[in-house]
Amino acid sequence: MNIQTVLEHLRGHNDQALFAEAEVVKRAVFGRQVFLRGIVEFSSHCCKRCLYCGLRAPNTRAVRYRLAPERIVQAALLASDLGLGTVVLQSGDDYSYDARTICDMVRAIKERSSLAVTLSLGDRPLEDLTRLRDSGADRYLIKLETTDPALYARLRPGERIEDRLERLEALRSLGYEVGSGIIVGLPGMTGDILARDILRLAELDLDMLAAGPFVPHPQTPLGEESCGSLEATLRVTALLRILSPRSNIPATSALNSLPGAVSGPDVRAGCNVIMPSLTPEDVRRGYEIYPGKNVVEAGARQVVSRVKAAIHQEGFVPSADPGFAPRSINAAGTTRGSAGRGHCGGEECGQVVAD
Ligand code: SF4
Repeated sequence: MNIQTVLEHLRGHNDQALFAEAEVVKRAVFGRQVFLRGIVEFSSHCCKRCLYCGLRAPNTRAVRYRLAPERIVQAALLASDLGLGTVVLQSGDDYSYDARTICDMVRAIKERSSLAVTLSLGDRPLEDLTRLRDSGADRYLIKLETTDPALYARLRPGERIEDRLERLEALRSLGYEVGSGIIVGLPGMTGDILARDILRLAELDLDMLAAGPFVPHPQTPLGEESCGSLEATLRVTALLRILSPRSNIPATSALNSLPGAVSGPDVRAGCNVIMPSLTPEDVRRGYEIYPGKNVVEAGARQVVSRVKAAIHQEGFVPSADPGFAPRSINAAGTTRGSAGRGHCGGEECGQVVAD
C-alpha cells in the first residue's frame, strides 16, 4: 500500500470496504478469538515530561501511587484466576523499582502461573532489559506515538525518535515479542505524518501494534487542544490490520473514552486483543494518562466479566490463550516469547475462556 492509498483511506471515502477487508484479514488469522490481557498499572510516578500525558512529572496535581511488589504480584496472579492468558505490568518511567525488584516479581508470577508476562516500563538500560528477559518476561511494549522526528522531539522534550527506535530493536534482539503504537490526532500531526506513521509501523514488523486517539488532559500543556477523531482511529486500526495481518492489535482504552465511542470493545475494525485493568480499585483512577481512563468503578472480577460479555455481544469469543503473535511462532510451534508454550492464535486451536 503506498502513501496515496493510505491518505485516501484516512479521508474516509471508502470506510465500508476498508472495515470489511480488515475484518476478513483478522478472521483469517485469528478466527473469532479475542485475547484478553490483564493490565496492572503499578505506579503512576514518571520522571518524563511528555506534553500529552497526565502522568508527566511537572503535573503537581496528578494522583501519585506506588504499589508494593507483593501487591503487584497478587494483582497479576488474578489474571490467571480469571482465565486470562497474559498479564501486563505497566508504569510510568519510575526507576524507584530497580531491575532486581521487577525480576523477582516476574519470576514469582511465572512460578505460580502459566501467564505470559508483558512489561511496559518505559526506557530502561539495556542491562536491565536483559535481566528482565532472563527472568522470564515474554514481551515489552514501547510506544512511539509518532515517528516524525520533529513532532516527537516537540512532544517528548529531551528525547529523540532515533533512540526510541534503537531501543525497540534492542528489545527484539533480546528475544522479546515487541509491541508499539501511535496516538492519532496529536496536535501538530498532519494527515501526511499520520500516513507515514502507519506505513512505518507496518515496516517495523512488530508483534503488537496499537492506535489510540489523542485525548487532551487538562493538566498538561495540550489541555486546550481538540480530541483525536474516533473515526480516524478506527481507520488507522483497520489499515494496521490489513498491513500487518499477523500482529496482535489491541482495542485501546482511549477509544472508549471519546464522545460517541462504542460502548463495547471495538473488535470490528481489526482489533483482536482487549486489555482489562486489574489495577486495584483503590488506586486505579490515579493512572490518569488521559481523562476518562480507568473510571470504571468495579472490582477486577466484574471488569473482566463485563469485557467478556461485551466480546460475546460483538459475536466474538474471549480466549485464555497467552496470545503470542502468530508472526513470531516458528515451524516447531514455539515462540520467541516463551519456548514451547505459545501456539497458533487461530480459532481452531485457541483455548476458549468459560464464562
Ligand atoms: Fe511518562 Fe509515559 Fe506519560 Fe511520557 S507518556 S509522561 S513516559 S507515563
